[in-house]
This record gives sequence, C-alpha cells and structure tokens, in this order.
Amino acid sequence: GETRIALNHAPTEVQQLAERFDEMLTRLYAAWEQQRQFVSNVSHELRTPLTIVSGYLQSVQRRGKNLSEPQQEALAIASNEADRTIQLLEDLLTLARVDNGQMQFQLETISFPSFIEQIIELFQQCHDRAIHYHLPTEEIKICADSNRLKQVILNLLDNAIKYSEPEQPVTMTLERKKQLGVLSVRDRGIGIPLAQQTRIFERFYRVDDARSCSTGGTGLGLSIVKTLVEGMGGNIKVSSRPREGTIFTLTFATM
Ligand code: ADP
Repeated sequence: GETRIALNHAPTEVQQLAERFDEMLTRLYAAWEQQRQFVSNVSHELRTPLTIVSGYLQSVQRRGKNLSEPQQEALAIASNEADRTIQLLEDLLTLARVDNGQMQFQLETISFPSFIEQIIELFQQCHDRAIHYHLPTEEIKICADSNRLKQVILNLLDNAIKYSEPEQPVTMTLERKKQLGVLSVRDRGIGIPLAQQTRIFERFYRVDDARSCSTGGTGLGLSIVKTLVEGMGGNIKVSSRPREGTIFTLTFATM
C-alpha cells in the first residue's frame, strides 16, 4: 500500500523540483550575465573621461613648475589616484572579456631570455629598485602573446617590490628544465601564509586588508595573471614563507 503510493507520487514531485531548479538556475544565470554586462559597460563609460582627466592633470603638472609645493603635491596625488582608477577599470574590462570568452591571444614565438632582458630594462626605467637576474646562455623559445606576457611579468615584479622592503633583493631566474622554460620571480619580503596561498589567485582576494591597504592594490592582479598565463598554455605556482619571502614560478613549454 504505502510504498506504492509514495512511488506514484515520486515522479511528479521530483519532476516539479527539477523544473523549479532549472528555472532558478536560468534566472541566476541571467542575473549573473546582467551583472557582468553592467560591470563591463560602467568600466567602459568611466575609462574614457578618466583618461582625459589624467591627461589634463599630467599636462598641468608638466607646466606647473611655478606652482606652490602644496599645489604640486595635490596635483601629484590627484594624478596618481586617477591612474590607479584607470588601472582598476582596465582590470575589470580584462576580466569581463575573459568571462565572455572574448579574450584573444596573439601567439607568437618568443625568445624567452631576450624578452626577459627587455622587460628588466623597461622596469628599471620607471623604478628605483634594482632587479637581480640570472639568464641562461642557451636559447629558450616559447609560444606566447608578448603583450600579455609582459603584463604578467611586470605585475609579478610590481608585487615583489610592493611586498618587500627596498633593501631586500628581488631576483628573476630563467632556466630550462627538460622541455620547459621556467621563470621564477623571487622576493625576500613579507611572504604569504600557507593557508592563503591558494586564495591569492581569486578575484579581489587580498591576504590581510589591514596590511595590504597601505599598498593600495585591488586584489585583481594575480587573478588576471593566472588567467592570462593559463590562457597562453602556461602554468603559475607560488611558494612562500611568512617573513622569508615569496617565489612565483611561471612555466611554459619550449618549442
Ligand atoms: P593586490 O596586490 O592588488 O592586492 P594581487 O592580486 O596582485 O592584488 O595580490 C593578491 C594578494 O596576494 C595581495 O593583496 C598580497 O596580500 C598577496 N601577494 C601578492 N604578491 C605577493 C608577494 N610577492 N609577497 C607577499 N604577498 C603577496
């Protein structure tokens, strides 16, 4: 008796549940889609005027030699903040592109050692920190998008100097390991606790708000780095100890 009744009811109930679940998923997906589109649109709309603001601020700065010191200071702060916000918008647009599957890579053959050399030169032009480096004498060719790869490595270098003291060395090492080109970016800075090491690649994740807030990041950098590296067929890993330092290791197949 009872068993048969339950069985008779079961298919319709399960079916109803399944239908409701399906409907909820569809609505959730639509909401997520809408939110994504919104972020992308807002970022676009804000980027243009902010770029104009930043341009004007820079030109006033250049011609403002006769301004008072407080005025120059105010200009510098405004200009910095405008640039930081532009960077945030760029990051949001990059992630929106990734989510929409619109991320495109211009893959080409790159000579890894000379590429690294160029990046170090570029980096030294706008930073006081010296970067130590070890490059192999042999050629290592990889397949990657040079602009994206540059963005990735500059981001890792930025973090390395941001999360260490000026007197602590930052070292880049490139080597071949069998069929792989392996690049490590190492600092001797504050390090990352083990429990947080997998989370730092998440969007907006920052290890310790109190600690990080003075360095003024957004927590988007490493999530973009990972997405870009994996999008180019590479791999990224972190290894770190609090107060001893951090090593980010990039791996690409050689050609
Ligand atoms: P942001 O630097 O803007 O906060 P990231 O995505 O680049 O965001 O990094 C996420 C978090 O990982 C940072 O907030 C920081 O706590 C930690 N982190 C990243 N790189 C390093 C590093 N080289 N040394 C110590 N902590 C780091």
